Amino acid sequence: MIGRDSLRHQGMRKKLVEGLKIKGIRDEKVLAAIGRVPRHLFMESSFLSFAYKDQAFPIGAGQTISQPFTVAFQTWLLQVEKNDRILEIGTGSGYQAAVLLEMGARVFTLERQMELFQKTQALLPEMGYFPACFFGDGWEGLPNLAPFDKILVTAGTDRIPDALKSQLKIGGRMVIPVGHESRQEMLSVVRTSEEEFKTEKHGGFVFVPLLKGTVNH
Ligand code: SAH
Repeated sequence: MIGRDSLRHQGMRKKLVEGLKIKGIRDEKVLAAIGRVPRHLFMESSFLSFAYKDQAFPIGAGQTISQPFTVAFQTWLLQVEKNDRILEIGTGSGYQAAVLLEMGARVFTLERQMELFQKTQALLPEMGYFPACFFGDGWEGLPNLAPFDKILVTAGTDRIPDALKSQLKIGGRMVIPVGHESRQEMLSVVRTSEEEFKTEKHGGFVFVPLLKGTVNH
């Protein structure tokens, strides 16, 4: 059974949203979506009291739920429109997917670790979130379901995977942290034609790495 959302949690969420505003997130739709998603239900019970701090936390299998500021910032850069078909790389806890669903997007999310894939695929519908969850390698994307309006990569890479470039619609937008293992630059990439991409930089972040292949346990 999943836990409950209470007035206390809602109050903590309001404070989190206020904090994100102070840190520069001004998009009302993004803030409203963060204000609606019960983040504490995406975390191990021992971390419940930390759920509404603006910090990343472990979610098992050596992975983390991203810091709320990072989720808000990536979501803002993605310029989500209602009914956008969005490919998310790195399902993790499912929290980012829930935020995108709250904004009215159709979400296709890909995870390489079987344990996390199974856990999150079961948990999200219990909370009323229905993304399409896939087990596979984010370096390959989801060629059979391409093209996508938006692609959001929630793990750090040393380059933009070619497969993901080819799965972006012309006019579509990708948000992806690219750099070294210790620090990545947040990039927004717009596909302007079949062969051309326009890239903008948005500052430094630290993500867990986008690993190769899948893990079947
Ligand atoms: N979006 C997540 C945070 C993700 S942390 C959330 O909201 O909780 C990064 C996730 O990317 C981890 O779950 C990790 O297992 C996954 N990952 C790493 N490499 C991957 C790959 N090649 N394909 C798919 N998922 C990958």
